[in-house]
Amino acid sequence: MKWQDRQRSSNVRKGSKANSGFGGSPRRSGPIFIPRGGKGGLGSIIFILIIMFLLKGISGIGSDINNTNNQNMDNPKQYQNQSTDQANARDTLEDFLSVVLKDTEDVWHAKFEEMNAEYVEPTMVLFEESTRSACGVASSDMGPFYCPIDESIYIDVDFYRQLKNQFGAGGDFAFAYVLAHEVGHHVQNQLGILDKTSKLRQTLPTKEYNKYSVAQELQADYFGGLFAFYVEQKGYLDPGDIEEAMDAAASIGDDRIQEMSGRNVNVDTFTHGSSSQRKEAFDLGYKYHDINNSMVFFENIN
Ligand SMILES: [Zn+2]
Repeated sequence: MKWQDRQRSSNVRKGSKANSGFGGSPRRSGPIFIPRGGKGGLGSIIFILIIMFLLKGISGIGSDINNTNNQNMDNPKQYQNQSTDQANARDTLEDFLSVVLKDTEDVWHAKFEEMNAEYVEPTMVLFEESTRSACGVASSDMGPFYCPIDESIYIDVDFYRQLKNQFGAGGDFAFAYVLAHEVGHHVQNQLGILDKTSKLRQTLPTKEYNKYSVAQELQADYFGGLFAFYVEQKGYLDPGDIEEAMDAAASIGDDRIQEMSGRNVNVDTFTHGSSSQRKEAFDLGYKYHDINNSMVFFENIN
C-alpha cells in the first residue's frame, strides 16, 4: 500500500497503562477474532502465528522473535540496537495505521453522505501491554477490538515490537484490512446494528446468537472489502494488496483457528465465520461496495 508522506488521521491517541488486576471482564465488541487462553497460552501463540502469517514474505520474523527473547541479557549493546529498531518499527506502524485510519474516514464520510447522514469518526487508541477502555481493560493478549461505548478502536502496538522494520518496505495491506474491519464495527454502531445484536445476545440461546455474531463479523469483513475498493480507486494499492487482505481474512476464520488449536471444528461455536465465509465477505464488499448489499449476512440467517 502507498502510505508514506500521506495525511494522517487526527483521531489517534496513546492509551495509558492500566493497573493490573482491575477492570473485570471487558464488554468489548467484535474483536477481529477471539483469542483463546490467557497470556502466554495457546491464544497468544495462535495470535503470534496469525500476525506472522499476515506479515509473510517479510524476511527473518521467526529469528527476530528468538533474538528478542534470548540475547538481550548477553549483549547489552545489541539490546540497545534492538530497542531502537523496535521503537522505529512501532513508530512506523503508528504512522501506517494513522494514514489508513484517515483513509477509512474519507471513505465513510463519502458513503454516509450518500445516505444524507453524517459519519462520526472513531478514535484509535494505540497502547502497550494494557490500557483502560470503556469496555474494560484492554491487554496484549486480546486481538484488536472496537469498544462501542467510547467509540474507540484498541490496538496493541507492543505486540508488533518483534516485527522491527517490516513496514519500511512499504506497508502491508493485511494490517489495513484488520483496521478497516474494526472501523466496520464502528460503522455498524452508527447504523444501529451493534445495538440490535447485543440485545439478541441477552435473549437468544448461545447457539442462535452465534449466528448473528457471525453475520456481524462477516459484515465487518464486507466493509473491509468496501474500503479496499475505494482505496484502490484512489490509486493507493500495490499489486497483490487485495490478495493479501483476502488471505488475512481466511487465516482468521473460526474453522482455521479451531484446527490450529487442536480442537474439532464445530460450526455452532463459530462467532466470526469460517475462512471461506470471511474471504467471500471481503470479496463481496470489494465487488459491490455499498451498504445495502452488506445486509445479506443478516438476511441469510435461518
Ligand atoms: Zn470483528
